[in-house]
Amino acid sequence: MNLIVRNVRMIDGTGADPVPKVNVVVENSRISWIGEGIVAPSNHPHFEDINAEDLTLVPGTFDCHEHFAGDGGQHGVRAMNTDPPEVLLAKAAGNARRALMTGQTSARDVGSPRGISITLARSVAAGALPGPRIVASGEWLQYPTTWGQSKIETVNSPEDMRRAILARIAQGAGVIKIGATGSSTDGSDPGTMGREVAQMVMDFVHGKGLKVAAHCTGFMGTREVVEAGIDSVEHGTHIDEETARMMAEKGTILVPTLSWRDYLFRASKRWGMAKKQIDSSEAVREWHKASYQRCIAAGVKIAAGTDAGGGDPMRHGNIVRELEVMVDWGLSPMEALKAATSTAAELVGTSDHVGTIEVGKLADFALIDGDPLSNIGDMRNVWAVYQGGRQVR
Ligand SMILES: [Zn+2]
Repeated sequence: MNLIVRNVRMIDGTGADPVPKVNVVVENSRISWIGEGIVAPSNHPHFEDINAEDLTLVPGTFDCHEHFAGDGGQHGVRAMNTDPPEVLLAKAAGNARRALMTGQTSARDVGSPRGISITLARSVAAGALPGPRIVASGEWLQYPTTWGQSKIETVNSPEDMRRAILARIAQGAGVIKIGATGSSTDGSDPGTMGREVAQMVMDFVHGKGLKVAAHCTGFMGTREVVEAGIDSVEHGTHIDEETARMMAEKGTILVPTLSWRDYLFRASKRWGMAKKQIDSSEAVREWHKASYQRCIAAGVKIAAGTDAGGGDPMRHGNIVRELEVMVDWGLSPMEALKAATSTAAELVGTSDHVGTIEVGKLADFALIDGDPLSNIGDMRNVWAVYQGGRQVR
């Protein structure tokens, strides 16, 4: 698709200062020219020509932590456990479309029953369904814990773990998701795998050319997988200073899913839960916030993810809410935008073709009516969305 966007304010996603007025040319799905001069060919019949004065062009965003097969909401997790696969796939397709319409042109799905997220990723890649470009894990892998969920496969030994990893890869997984910790709210439970198995998982998966993401909500389990070389810590509810320092040194990326934690606390009040549950939910939110702030102070790289569909109650298409909480709790709007674009692409492994506005990259971007650097919430004012140069909204 060929396109000229003229006179637009551009935030390229690299963290560089915004350019107040620039022209961006797209040819054959890719950005072919960016500059301030006169653009030829003007009024060429094969080019769509847009005057985007007063709009802001930003890279298409990423949500690095979604579960498309779940709708979220008060009974989202229960539905994911009981819905038949045909319904889960239909829900996943609807959720993918919803996300795309918000300017979210890429996603990582870190857990679904029956490999439905992988089926969804393949359907979108084949052009059969509208949606973000998806890298998916299928079911995540975990040693026995207190959790029994349809999006988790329980393994019982290192051999079993290797078999399950190979099965995911054969199915078409683009990332392997593991559970590193249990689910106690004070973060005190030990890691689920032990140091040796954690190391085996990293070496085995990295040897196959994939990355590993770990569900982390306890201090010791998080330390265990960070030491072993995990690529991303998901949630990171309990991260001490030493683990944060280690993450910064190793380049481990944190996907803090703050809006999920924030919603959980607010929903606990709205849904009329007992005072004890509300208090506990508030306490965990404070732990989570402090861990996130420790990571910022240590210089840990951060990528944006909402956990939509994973735990109650986050829904898909709300990455801007995540950016708002990221900013409320410590990042600048520019840093939050990086977390949802270039850093996210680095994590997902697609930074060679998406995540920033640069010549040669695929034309995945949104035009925003407003200036997200003055108000990150302006990212909701989506005027148009392009994916590979094709207007999808
Ligand atoms: Zn999740």
